[in-house]
Amino acid sequence: MKTQSRRLDGLGTTIFAEMSALAARTGAVNLGQGFPDTDGPDAVVDVAVAALRSGRNQYAPGIGVPELRAAVADHQSRFYGIALDPDREVVVTTGATEAIAAAVLGLVDPGDEVLVLEPYYDSYVAVIQMAGGVRRPVTLRAPDFRLDVEALRAAVTPRTTAVLLNTPHNPTGTVLTPDELAAVAAVAVEHDLVVISDEVYEHLTFGVPHVPIATLPGMAERTLTISSGGKSFAFTGWKVGWASGPAHLVDAVMGAKQFITYTSGSPLQPAIAAALRMDDAYFTSFTDGMRERRDLLCAGLEAAGLKVFVPQGTYFATTDIRPLGFDDGLDFCRRLPELAGVVAVPHQVFHDDQDAGRPLVRWAFCKRPEVLTEAVTRLTRAFT
Ligand code: PMP
Ligand code: GLN
Repeated sequence: MKTQSRRLDGLGTTIFAEMSALAARTGAVNLGQGFPDTDGPDAVVDVAVAALRSGRNQYAPGIGVPELRAAVADHQSRFYGIALDPDREVVVTTGATEAIAAAVLGLVDPGDEVLVLEPYYDSYVAVIQMAGGVRRPVTLRAPDFRLDVEALRAAVTPRTTAVLLNTPHNPTGTVLTPDELAAVAAVAVEHDLVVISDEVYEHLTFGVPHVPIATLPGMAERTLTISSGGKSFAFTGWKVGWASGPAHLVDAVMGAKQFITYTSGSPLQPAIAAALRMDDAYFTSFTDGMRERRDLLCAGLEAAGLKVFVPQGTYFATTDIRPLGFDDGLDFCRRLPELAGVVAVPHQVFHDDQDAGRPLVRWAFCKRPEVLTEAVTRLTRAFT
């Protein structure tokens, strides 16, 4: 009898749960797993409550409720000038996580190679493996974590069929520039690759624009764009995500999704539709508030003696821990609650190239300012 489940690499599979459990057990300030410690807008919650109370509690259409698909299409048009048919070119998923999984399972065949930015968001590794695909890392390296276009080109082989892109990038905070995106697009067009673009932090860039790769010439027909209500509206626990793009790619997602979740939860979908239609003032103040938190945390981490790489986007700042006298991020993070009463996440769990990630540690700043200040006070006390 088999006593062990099929082992998935997953590199960082359990790190978020491990670190959140460590924070809960030790009372440490949790700057590990990326979730806000305040809810999103009340008006959005009110729409969800009304949906629950008005009987929208049975299966949604597999592709998603019409008002959310329309809101996603209108959002893509409003912010990026992307035109989508909401009935054929948008699918609602259970978080971006399901969109990524269904996209990979729907589009990657056994033996296909997928180019992926490393450090990877952890689910990428596992779902490529579930599909029988092979990941080909393109490493973003400290100190600037920019795309190495030569490395990208060198990673392409005759078996390459897809690029799994992530910008703004978790965990480095890199936002790919139009030139970097053009380089990815050139490779995709030259080798006829599909691009699966994870843009969950699209509204979290600080002073630089987010450019969806689908807007570049020749890319709309080969790009599946993925996002989520979790990050943009601070409802990570709702797990409402979506994928959009040409009908043949959306169909591939739907083909897998129908046997993963079948359909996604009904009552939260109209609420995220309302959220996507909020006015510009919401998006501006959300980004400005997160930028202040980034600045607060980065200044504090530097004062505590860490080398800080200030991120251009996302919820996360990366540091090098070597100035504190440590060189192994995983060991450091496991000891940090005891050393300082804080929890963070090591980069190396998101790497095949362990050396590149070993001294790097990620800290979440999507927390109340007083929580960030408490974390920084503890770190300063412990290390200076
Ligand atoms: N992609 C990236 C890069 C993320 O950081 C996250 C957040 N956990 C996800 C996907 C998953 O998003 P969701 O919670 O909507 O499934
Ligand atoms: N995206 C969040 C992070 O990177 C949460 C990940 C998770 O819990 N799977 O921290």
